[in-house]
Amino acid sequence: MTIPSVTLNSGFDIPQLGFGVFRVPSAQTERVVSEALEVGYRHIDTAAIYGNEDGVGAAIESSGIPRDELFVTTKLWNDRQSGDQPLDAIRESLDKLRLDYVDLYLTHWPTPAKDTYSHAWSKLIEIRDAGLSRSIGVSNHLPEHLDRIVKDTGVVPAVDQIELHPAYQQRDVVAWAQANGTRIEAWGPLGQGKYPLFENPAVADAAAAHDATPAQVVIRWHLQKGVIVFPKSTHKARMAENLDVFGFELTADEIAGIDALDPGDGSGRVGSHPLEFN
Ligand code: NAD
Repeated sequence: MTIPSVTLNSGFDIPQLGFGVFRVPSAQTERVVSEALEVGYRHIDTAAIYGNEDGVGAAIESSGIPRDELFVTTKLWNDRQSGDQPLDAIRESLDKLRLDYVDLYLTHWPTPAKDTYSHAWSKLIEIRDAGLSRSIGVSNHLPEHLDRIVKDTGVVPAVDQIELHPAYQQRDVVAWAQANGTRIEAWGPLGQGKYPLFENPAVADAAAAHDATPAQVVIRWHLQKGVIVFPKSTHKARMAENLDVFGFELTADEIAGIDALDPGDGSGRVGSHPLEFN
């Protein structure tokens, strides 16, 4: 199976479908990531705050997979945006991951009340220029934060990783990204299992029509919309299921049916709001 790649504004390619490890307990991470690599994932999304970079690093090392066949993302936590702390933070992450560089480094949240996210972005540019991350981007940034960092530095992030699933589609952020050559990455792509997405007829009927599972339909919806996605599961069978999405294609009507699931008033959000999170 070939996982399609998309090219970032840095010129580097990223596998459009990867594997996320949020809330994978540290003690299980080596096993879980080893299984993910066995079933065929080559793109792993972690973060310093997940406390499991060690396990990701151990799994990568024992897999024997050549470094240039892997795409590894990690993120700068909110309490390290000031001064030179981002440089210390990336070096600590690289130690834990047992890597010389990551493929993508992100500012995890803007935490606007502290007003340090633009400084953090300038440090991510230094990190990229020092070769510690091939590409750099942000997470949970709204258009006002994106405008600010581009105005301050002239550097456009390669990605914005945002909460994105059928009930919460953040169309204003997606429009900013499309206009500026930034790729959208969806976190919580399955809604984190927090609302009955899989039972919704727009999803369930498409699943029946394609002899697929509802999770596969939602992953396909993301992929066909050009979004980068990395669903999480600690079960090997589900890891394989979530990767097995290249044998069918949703119709334009099916896509439109899932597009219509966002109530449009922000009530579909399942995670924190970027303006409130510190
Ligand atoms: P998700 O939408 O991927 O949901 C994961 C849950 O969906 C699992 O716990 C499981 O219960 C269920 N699931 C997975 N596969 C399934 C299947 N085939 N059938 C039925 N149920 C299934 O949510 P997530 O893990 O929060 O998001 C994915 C990744 O995004 C994370 O692991 C992490 O890497 C990233 N993330 C980033 C941020 C951020 O602030 N940048 C926040 C949250 C998550």
